[in-house]
Amino acid sequence: MSNYHRIKQTCALCGKTSTYNVLVSTSAFGAMDLDTRPPALKRYTNSDTIQTCPHCGYVNYTVDTPTTLPAEFVKCEAYTGIEHSGLPAMAIQFYKHAEIAKAEKDDRKLFWAYLRAAWECDDAQDYTSAINCRKDALAVLTNTNAIIMGDVDAAHIMTADLLRRTGQFDAVVKSYSQYRAKDAFLNKLIQYEVKLAKQQDAGCHRVDEA
Ligand SMILES: [Zn+2]
Repeated sequence: MSNYHRIKQTCALCGKTSTYNVLVSTSAFGAMDLDTRPPALKRYTNSDTIQTCPHCGYVNYTVDTPTTLPAEFVKCEAYTGIEHSGLPAMAIQFYKHAEIAKAEKDDRKLFWAYLRAAWECDDAQDYTSAINCRKDALAVLTNTNAIIMGDVDAAHIMTADLLRRTGQFDAVVKSYSQYRAKDAFLNKLIQYEVKLAKQQDAGCHRVDEA
């Protein structure tokens, strides 16, 4: 089960204090998805991992996380306009966080904000938005030569999954049919991505299916 505490936290941007639900523990049952999304119950605590300051609208995993941005940033059109993007409510919060990451030039933070937004769209069954979020995540991964993932094989599995889940099946087959990962398990995962792409399967799959 998932346990929460109510705690007071001070916004790093506006300095005002509010009370937030903070996830202190949860459980995970089963295998994660190919894009690292955790299984239930942890899967559904995704939205509980992001906080929004009710005073100024600053969004971060914890609002007391310092930022180099000025307080006026959250009033700019690029940030406030996300409210009218038509994305599901929680995906909006992750896109705001993405906008902050972009301004801070933090590509790793940017990538995960887009991917988590995609997960929110999956849950809201907004598949068009989910594809758009994944395309944004893929663009970050491509522009940074995937170095933000740390491990090169993990980066390729993530790239293959984002390509497949955005319907770019030929690209998966072309780029990864001959690809061999160092680790046998990771190799199995990447070849599973190729197999799914050949079947034109853009769905969500778990690592234990490979
Ligand atoms: Zn604030």
